[in-house]
Amino acid sequence: MGNAMERRTQSGAFLERTPETIFTPEQFGAEDRLMAEATERFMREQVMPLVPRLESGEKSLMRALLEQAASLGLMGVDVPPEYGGLGLPKTTSALITEKTALQPSFAVSHAVHTSVGSLPLLLFGTREQAEKYLPRLTTGESIGAYALTEPEAGSDALAARTRAHREGDTYYLTGNKIWITNAGFADLFVTFAKVDGARFTAFLVERSSPGLLVEREEHKLGLHGSSTCRVVLEQTPVPAANRLGDEGQGAYVALYTLNIGRFKIGAAAVGLGKEAWGLGFEYAHERKQFGRPIAEFDLVWRKLAWGRTLLFVCESALYRLAGDLEAVFSTPEGDPQSRWRYVAASFAAECALIKVATTEMLDWVIDDALQIHGGYGFSEEYPVARLYRDARVNRLYEGTNEINRLNLVERLLYLRRRGLPLTLSRSSAPPHPNGEREVAPHSVVEATLAALRHLTGKSLFALETAQEIPQAFVEPLSDALIALYLLDSAFVRARMTGDPFQQAALALYHEHVRRHLAGWQTDLAPLTGETPPRLMPQPLAPLYEAVWCAL
Ligand SMILES: Cc1cc2nc3c(=O)[nH]c(=O)nc-3n(C[C@H](O)[C@H](O)[C@H](O)COP(=O)(O)OP(=O)(O)OC[C@H]3O[C@@H](n4cnc5c(N)ncnc54)[C@H](O)[C@@H]3O)c2cc1C
Repeated sequence: MGNAMERRTQSGAFLERTPETIFTPEQFGAEDRLMAEATERFMREQVMPLVPRLESGEKSLMRALLEQAASLGLMGVDVPPEYGGLGLPKTTSALITEKTALQPSFAVSHAVHTSVGSLPLLLFGTREQAEKYLPRLTTGESIGAYALTEPEAGSDALAARTRAHREGDTYYLTGNKIWITNAGFADLFVTFAKVDGARFTAFLVERSSPGLLVEREEHKLGLHGSSTCRVVLEQTPVPAANRLGDEGQGAYVALYTLNIGRFKIGAAAVGLGKEAWGLGFEYAHERKQFGRPIAEFDLVWRKLAWGRTLLFVCESALYRLAGDLEAVFSTPEGDPQSRWRYVAASFAAECALIKVATTEMLDWVIDDALQIHGGYGFSEEYPVARLYRDARVNRLYEGTNEINRLNLVERLLYLRRRGLPLTLSRSSAPPHPNGEREVAPHSVVEATLAALRHLTGKSLFALETAQEIPQAFVEPLSDALIALYLLDSAFVRARMTGDPFQQAALALYHEHVRRHLAGWQTDLAPLTGETPPRLMPQPLAPLYEAVWCAL
């Protein structure tokens, strides 16, 4: 991993400056790649052929597959070796998540187990709790689930009605949890309840606990191979030793874990996006209409060029964040648990940003892949139809994208109130790129980045003292923040590698951002008090062609 681990950065730093270097996938070593290849082989050879059986309701099969995954180390990628895991860097862990994402029903079962089902133990568990549960979770002997959502408490998770009261060394939990992934076969539920109706608290609840009832499977739009059920708790006794963190600390347990979960969803979305893009690309070359492969039609190949561009920028941003998380995590200061907590808490803004950016990219790429398949895309005979259904949920869970847009803005405002520097000085209007050049000169991209920093900086500055953020500003502001982070990451990566495809994709993405910039400037003008400068769009055709030729 070389020097990548030596970098230090802080959440929100992207608002101030472009880094010299970031972690990029080009820096993966042979071992990382071998691990990723082994994971991909497992997915293609062991998991994907079983999808029809998984989808027909053989839930025990999913459990068996998770156990098989454990034998490859895939159930403990983030868990330290002392608890039987691999303790891999966050960068490698993201690469592996890209591969486990190839089959979405498996991916969600695996991700809930390894992420929100296990990580709370690393973040908040006592040594005894970690020693008791983590080795079993890592070997697949126990399967984890995460029970936060309730009928009346979805996005507003802290409005939970599940209650707990303590008698001696036992808590008794009563309430309903819904949409619980893995519930059909999970052994351990990270569950949240309010002690005495007030103190929101996390508990480790074993499946065998009296009064715990798992109800029928939900009939879902997609992810038909995964288990999702309602869980009812009726005076369920939970030993006080199974309280996770302190009474009243449940919000931290829930939210810190979800931050990491959002980063993982980002990795899964990039992995699945590549798969969907590949299906569209292959089909476009196989399918002939009007005597030619449809890939030769501009209206088809431009979709593929744009999809590959989106994947490139999202991948660049994802691994930048992975590198930053790992850089913080690998500092020698503090014990591993406080480092986990610090990592999970401190990059909340970037985790929310990545979740929104990558899941919206994923739906775009899959929708285009389906469109390229024509009517066959609407047929269950072709895998893209299933991907279309399966991917949709990514914009809903681990915080809907609306909630994550709010989180992004609120978290940056929180950091700002603690001294995060913003770019408030007015930048010059982005120069108009020379239309004859196929790739954007770096100075042009830098000018757009400066304009985005100024716009987002001034907007956040204006909101700094607001009691409540008017939601009308959240969409343009979060879009501009996402564009800034993605463009900045793609820019640094393309500059580091000099790769011709990356240069071309950067230029195409840059022009799309430039075109949107004027809209964001207009929508945020009430905050900035500035009239948007007039922007001349650059022709897109040569930029698309450059990407397609460089693929
Ligand atoms: C397949 C699947 C698996 C899941 N797995 C799990 C699991 O394992 N564990 C678990 O605990 N949960 C799980 N969930 C639940 C999921 O996290 C919730 O569905 C999600 O948090 C949204 O809550 P909700 O469905 O109640 O929607 P609501 O909160 O009712 O939201 C409805 C709409 O209103 C919007 N909205 C809500 N509040 C605001 C606001 N303040 N500002 C702007 N817009 C707002 C939302 O963005 C959304 O568009 C799962 C869900 C699904 C579909």
